[in-house]
Amino acid sequence: MASWLDMDPAPDVEAEAARTLATIADEVSQCRACPRLVEWRERVAREKRAAYADQEYWGRGVPGWGDPLASVAVVGLAPAAHGANRTGRMFCGDRSGEWLYRALWRAGFASQPETTSRDDDMVLSDVWITSPVHCAPPDNKPTIVERDTCVGFLSRELAALPRLSVVVALGGARVGGGSPRHLGSVVGVRRAVAVDEQDLGDRGELVSDGVEDRLARLSDRLDAAEQTMLPPPER
Ligand code: SF4
Repeated sequence: MASWLDMDPAPDVEAEAARTLATIADEVSQCRACPRLVEWRERVAREKRAAYADQEYWGRGVPGWGDPLASVAVVGLAPAAHGANRTGRMFCGDRSGEWLYRALWRAGFASQPETTSRDDDMVLSDVWITSPVHCAPPDNKPTIVERDTCVGFLSRELAALPRLSVVVALGGARVGGGSPRHLGSVVGVRRAVAVDEQDLGDRGELVSDGVEDRLARLSDRLDAAEQTMLPPPER
């Protein structure tokens, strides 16, 4: 029997989710709440890495992105200085993103194996990509205060996804204050559960067979992505 996840949602549900997520993205891209991160992200954007000297860096808060009807959210810790802080797309343009987007493509969540720009043709299906810290931190290490200042955006993003069932937390988002349990309580999404290679079985009946199969394939390929994700916030 088909589950509710297999049913087509009402168009207004998708439109409402897309509107809410666009509003949050706009707020993230204009946010200046963390002085240290604002100074860093803008300095990096001005000075640039030599290899990207001809590119215009994003240099702002990096919004989450993906499918408003996603049942899966992939949560890393924060953008990288010359990765998402350059491209403006979460985890795009750095090594962790290379692994992550290839894994998503192989598991059927992404339309192509790589993304190099927020304006390329990549389309995500059934997955939302985000993080609890939306600005690139110095030394790849946000502070606990910065994480707590920003995590409200994550909370609102996940709450805006009407079909969200599974949160896949990677790298620094998996441990400490960004642990899946913490994410579940912070975001207040009652269906959100942690998934990694060890606990894929815990999601029970929460996801449809098709998603389950793709999650299993995704999980097989996340190790490499996770090795390159940022460590947890500093205390
Ligand atoms: S990390 Fe988050 S809260 Fe802090 S300035 Fe960036 S977008 Fe704003």
